Amino acid sequence: MEAILKEYFGYEKFRYGQQEIIENILAGDNALGILPTGSGKSLCYQIPGLMFEGTTLVISPLISLMQDQVDSLKRRGISAECINSTMAKRDLNDVMGRLVRGELQFLYVAPERFNNEEFKTAVRHAEIPFVAFDEAHCISKWGHDFRPSYQSIIPELKALLPDVQIIAVTATATEEVEENIQELLNIKNNAVFKTSVRRDNLKLSVNGTYQREQFILSYIKERLEQSGIIYVSTRAEVEKLSVYLTDNNIENVIYHGGLGKKERNDNQQKFVSDEVKIVIATNAFGMGIDKPDIRYIIHFNLPGDLESYYQEIGRAGRDSRPSDCILLSTQRDVNLQQFFIDRATATDQYKDHMREKLDLMLQYNKTSKCLSSFIVKYFNHDEYVEACGQCSSCLSAERTEPMTSEARLILELVQETDGQLSKELVIQVLRGENADNIVARGLDSQERFGVLDSYRTSDVNHLVEELIMRGYVHCAGNRMHLVEKSLDILNRKVKLYTVPYRKHYNERVNVSTD
Ligand code: ADP
Repeated sequence: MEAILKEYFGYEKFRYGQQEIIENILAGDNALGILPTGSGKSLCYQIPGLMFEGTTLVISPLISLMQDQVDSLKRRGISAECINSTMAKRDLNDVMGRLVRGELQFLYVAPERFNNEEFKTAVRHAEIPFVAFDEAHCISKWGHDFRPSYQSIIPELKALLPDVQIIAVTATATEEVEENIQELLNIKNNAVFKTSVRRDNLKLSVNGTYQREQFILSYIKERLEQSGIIYVSTRAEVEKLSVYLTDNNIENVIYHGGLGKKERNDNQQKFVSDEVKIVIATNAFGMGIDKPDIRYIIHFNLPGDLESYYQEIGRAGRDSRPSDCILLSTQRDVNLQQFFIDRATATDQYKDHMREKLDLMLQYNKTSKCLSSFIVKYFNHDEYVEACGQCSSCLSAERTEPMTSEARLILELVQETDGQLSKELVIQVLRGENADNIVARGLDSQERFGVLDSYRTSDVNHLVEELIMRGYVHCAGNRMHLVEKSLDILNRKVKLYTVPYRKHYNERVNVSTD
């Protein structure tokens, strides 16, 4: 094992987890490896693949990913090919011929290939002792990126290669997904290898700013030399943010599924080669990109679940140097994600599952606990971790102030005017603004008029948003309503601690209750 590591890959030592997984495979068992992005999962099947007689079949969901791996194996003098839907028939036949003649050490295929009869015939005639499922979370219907074609392979595979040995690797599997993969691929408990999902060089923060564009602009201006990805939920918003940054003299490229193939490739290339430092993209961007020095990943919107979030931020800091992962989001994003779920073609049971995951994503967004520990716990309930001391929660924990009385004043105003006032009006009344619309509606004679006149609009807005996020008040159709939970504060059952907005503009108000 070590000789191969050195001879073919030029590395001296195995990284954490690799050796155990490889030994398990060599001992003849199926195995599942759950290792963070960038930790070297490919070697876990490439090294046994080099030791076995015959061809190792690697099932991988993305063409670009396969191509990169094949190129890198070829550079090391290893015979590897991939088969994909864009290939000419002649090339395809050539590769299949080499498979049957035993000339390939590795063959990469997309799961859909198992629907192809010619391919299946070739597999039947080839010597294939070992199959690797890359991005194995795609197998599980409880994973965040379930691909039905992945699951339908399993019975095919059992019929075609009844004795084949299997390895599955992924960076993102909750315990539920892990168990599901084990069951589907027949992997014993003692053949599951996990390392902590914690990555200490990633500095996580959640920032509740409602001026997201300005935040991004000032953040980037401080680090023009660094590479970063800004993830945005919709194509239209990608374009909008790109124009905004361009107008402010920040060069950037965009990437989303609506662009032509050539434009997508060109833009990706500009980013990877450092010609342009910033890419603004939907979640279509990133898989298979091996750029080690991505220094920050900003999420303009709330992702649908923590697995997607973890996978996307996993692209930062592969060189192990400190990198920022900043989540910006507003209440509006929650509605968008709920809309995506409602609209999805899925069973009700699956939709409920997605809602639960969204709910956990929201909890991450508003937790006052250590963000890094929150993620670790999400993936592995039993793992005990110390607070990281560097995420926005840990940093702001020391700077909280009691804000219960301010919160109570906000809720008292909402109680008296239930459902009549917009969020903006609530803020104006509390700040005691003599605007025309306030005077015309007689709101300047309201009992709570001006009670928060010593605070800036941004402070009050931030506190109101925080109360909405934490479920202490409801805002629907831009009308503020009281909810049952409001009574906890109104009746002095809970105290609210926050880091006021004015104290650090760049970090979120962090509310904790006791
Ligand atoms: P993953 O699939 O887990 O995201 P990769 O398999 O692409 O990660 O590996 C990430 C990088 O780490 C690659 O450049 C790989 O060559 C390198 N790598 C893997 N194993 C080792 C090792 N034992 N020592 C040094 N570098 C390694």
